[in-house]
Amino acid sequence: DVLVIGGGITGAAVARDAAARGLTVALVEKGDWASGTSWRSSKLIHGGLRYLKTGNVRLVFESLSERARLSRLAPHLVRPTDFLFPAYRGRGVAPWQLEVGLTLYDLLALGRSLRRHRRLSREETLRRERMLESPELAAAGLYGDGRTDDARLTLENVLDAALLGAVPVSRAAVDALEKDGHGRARGARARDLESGRELVIRARSVVNATGPWGDTLRKWDDPSAHSVLRLSRGAHLTVPAARLPLGEAIAFPMDDGRLLFAIPYGSVTLLGTTDTDHRGAADDVRAAPEDVAYILAAARRTFPTAGISDADVVATFASLRPLVGQPGVSVGETSREDAIEVAPSGLVTVTGGKLTTHVRMGRKAVDAAAKPLAESGVSTGRSRTSDRPFPGAPDQPMPEFVELLLGAREPADPSLSDDTISHLAYRYGRRAWEVFRLTVEDRSLGRPIVEGLPDIDAEIVFAARFEDTRSLIDALARRTHLFWQAPGQGMEALERAADLLGKELGWTPDQRRGACDDYAREVARSREWKQRS
Ligand code: FAD
Repeated sequence: DVLVIGGGITGAAVARDAAARGLTVALVEKGDWASGTSWRSSKLIHGGLRYLKTGNVRLVFESLSERARLSRLAPHLVRPTDFLFPAYRGRGVAPWQLEVGLTLYDLLALGRSLRRHRRLSREETLRRERMLESPELAAAGLYGDGRTDDARLTLENVLDAALLGAVPVSRAAVDALEKDGHGRARGARARDLESGRELVIRARSVVNATGPWGDTLRKWDDPSAHSVLRLSRGAHLTVPAARLPLGEAIAFPMDDGRLLFAIPYGSVTLLGTTDTDHRGAADDVRAAPEDVAYILAAARRTFPTAGISDADVVATFASLRPLVGQPGVSVGETSREDAIEVAPSGLVTVTGGKLTTHVRMGRKAVDAAAKPLAESGVSTGRSRTSDRPFPGAPDQPMPEFVELLLGAREPADPSLSDDTISHLAYRYGRRAWEVFRLTVEDRSLGRPIVEGLPDIDAEIVFAARFEDTRSLIDALARRTHLFWQAPGQGMEALERAADLLGKELGWTPDQRRGACDDYAREVARSREWKQRS
């Protein structure tokens, strides 16, 4: 019934929604799941405090309501997190403005705030977060938002779509749309990038969820179509937690109106992001020297005593926001709302939006496909994803679930640390039991992939067996996050990771070497800004 092109968060959500309605669904992705924008976001499930400033109250309201939904349906993947928002004398957001903004943020959450905001004096702020020490600091607002694992949120949508009967195929690039005699979009041709085989996929309706590549497909459908996308590049970088040790996440405004975040992630602090027009190809996105310089300057201003410099950067990553352009509006002010277009051929294109609102976008896109489907005598029925828990959602509240896993440690592997067990609980939810089982079968798999971090070897084996993992980049950047969390970006564990993954996937020595080289190239790309600066 439905062919969804693009396996980022949007396409995965569309496929899940369509499959949950009982439709037959194929989902094709040219790379790995989430390998486009969706693994390189700020990883927040949030209302978007900054949109209050631009007056987009509706977007904030919708996002807060989706935040509440995801906290319920995927509690392992949406972690309530305290944020401190500093207010300064003579710059940024004045304390009274902050108070108004955070009060409105709480009100719009309709009683479902992750933490009701509180105003902190300068002294209270510094007691909580000494890194904010600066002569201009006046006060701060403390509020709650959600942190997520963007790649895994995407993957759980794909896994759930598959559980519901959809056929997800990664490493298959669509290169043409198929039309019927009346010019209706009726499928696509794709190339299996591993075997080189040509695939013809027939469908009653086609959804274009290719994010930053959306215009390319729109033009395949209709060569006279105008581009609608405005691609905005957002870069992030990580620094060692020891260089910027934060007790909670910080949201800090810059003079140009941007709101940046510093978010502690165990061994590193994640800093981002930028918002600049991207003119190059959608396939070639990396942090530019000026992106890194901007983020570091912002960090130095907000955390003056830390003295963060180029030398502290562990990793960088950048991606593109597939925004719908608005004439005369700057890139920073361009709406983050989703947009759905149905072309005369029936091709449904869904763009914009956020990770936070993906369930809603999936539903809206399938509703938009109702017409082409009805013409073929298929009824889309009612969406069933609004209340459907994600595959990893445990039956218990998260703290209880973590306790349960901790209690089960003895028969599994007594050497697994509390930190590792809690990490497995939040990364996999109830699927953590299966990772656990691997360590029971083979104790050696309880070993940390990188010394000092909670990720264990069993995760690589699990990723290969149950999570459609085909490369070291999939394993180390998206199934785990060593690419941006490990001090050496996972290079220190590369050979062992290659042994584990290669054994599962039956790699030849050449394939193994190629996989290591590909990973090393990806790491080099993330450090390229240094040579270009
Ligand atoms: P993508 O993830 O790019 O997916 C499109 C997919 O289509 C790609 O995987 C690509 O490989 C595939 N594809 C393209 N062409 C083809 C083809 N011909 N055949 C097969 N497959 C194809 N949102 C939040 O809610 N919270 C945040 O904190 C947040 N932070 C962000 C920070 C940054 C820097 C950016 C850029 C965005 C952020 N967002 C955030 C927004 C959110 O990340 C994006 O809206 C979302 O990830 C877009 O997903 P997508 O599926 O539309 O696009």
